[in-house]
Amino acid sequence: MDIKENILMERYELGRLLGQGTFAKVYFARNLTTGQSVAIKVIDKEKVIHVGLVNQIKREISIMKLVRHPNILQLYEVMATKTKIYFALEYAKGGELFDKVANGKLKEQTARRYFHQLIDAVDFCHSRGVYHRDLKPENLLLDENEDLKVSDFGLSALAESKREDGLLHTACGTPAYVAPEVITRRGYDGDKADVWSCGVILFVLLAGYLPFHDSNLVEMYRKIGKSEFRFPSWLQADVRKLISRILDPNPVNRITIPKIKENAWFKMGKCSKEENADKASGSGTITNVAEDQDSMNPPNMNAFDIIILSPGYNLTTLFEEHVQKKEARFAIWQPASAIRSKLEEIGKCLGMKVSKREAGLLKLDATTKGKKGILSIDAEIFELAPSLHMVEVKKCYGDTLEYQKVLDERLRPALQDVSWNMQGVEQDQRVQPEQHEVLQHP
Ligand code: AMP
Repeated sequence: MDIKENILMERYELGRLLGQGTFAKVYFARNLTTGQSVAIKVIDKEKVIHVGLVNQIKREISIMKLVRHPNILQLYEVMATKTKIYFALEYAKGGELFDKVANGKLKEQTARRYFHQLIDAVDFCHSRGVYHRDLKPENLLLDENEDLKVSDFGLSALAESKREDGLLHTACGTPAYVAPEVITRRGYDGDKADVWSCGVILFVLLAGYLPFHDSNLVEMYRKIGKSEFRFPSWLQADVRKLISRILDPNPVNRITIPKIKENAWFKMGKCSKEENADKASGSGTITNVAEDQDSMNPPNMNAFDIIILSPGYNLTTLFEEHVQKKEARFAIWQPASAIRSKLEEIGKCLGMKVSKREAGLLKLDATTKGKKGILSIDAEIFELAPSLHMVEVKKCYGDTLEYQKVLDERLRPALQDVSWNMQGVEQDQRVQPEQHEVLQHP
């Protein structure tokens, strides 16, 4: 059993149910060691596997861990058993933002403050290539200081699957916040779609009701597609103009976040505390991820990434019985430049073309066709600590046997020569299958 007498993994005491979604139940809990209040989100693995989202969830968990911002609900830890995944999340004591709107519209100044925090959070995630794609009331929570906490950033796979399940039509999956181009499945930019949802949220905060609403779903889609809505009489011209620019049905013409930030209504009453935070972080954000790296520098990784990437702690072992590995990883105590030279040397010996790409990525391409086209291998260098790097080698294209030969006969021996091979370390650290796997500690 993973939960005995309300104690989860000997780490958390579970309390009352806070809420429920399609895939998850959320409980209040207390960390038994630190006493910290947390929210434990329990996801049924069966359901996730059933809708084929395992890989996406794994990827998105690692994204969530990278996204640290004062207005984004923090993920502290991920745990798993054979049947369940548990997320230990920052507890949002103030509950859902929209419970406030249920009593009527908010004051303009209050709505603007929440909108500032929402835009800051969304902008931060976009700058890291993470899109929410399912911004809606249930994802907007408040902490004890009435500060906004956006939840489920990076877990959009769960939302997507709601659509594939046809559950969009139910009360829990309202399309009211979804951009027209998402509804029509025209292929869309995540950032533009998120901006649209922010516009709907702003409207609701100021008006106290939805801009697009109809008991007939087809009619509602039509209204969204044409951005057909009416402003309440009390909204001033400046904010009407901003909302109209956000709720532009054509994503190409829709206002962008940098332009929203320049908007006079948006800037009005931005308190000095917020401005100082903006200045301190460059974009109103706080992060533990290395910033402004030289584009050729390898991306920095935190402990969570290492754990995620390590087979011993990888969620893969929890979901899949037999994993055919196509990639190999090597931890190397050498500067990135030395590793790059080594890879170039190997490529040259093999008669392959070596090209440098963004961040720490090197591409090794065969010059002649193999059995299944031209063999192409990616070698990506990640910085684990100063002068400790991890190189991940994987096949991009071509025949697997040819790749395996290059890997086993040339790349592996050469890289092992200079490396401390992670594989050996993982064997010692591997979690026993009968134990419950605490995948990650903060
Ligand atoms: P979700 O499955 O994330 O949509 O969560 C369902 C509901 O649980 C939310 O609408 C909230 O009411 C509640 N909830 C989720 N996460 C938290 C949290 N970290 N703190 C407090 N309540 C939460």
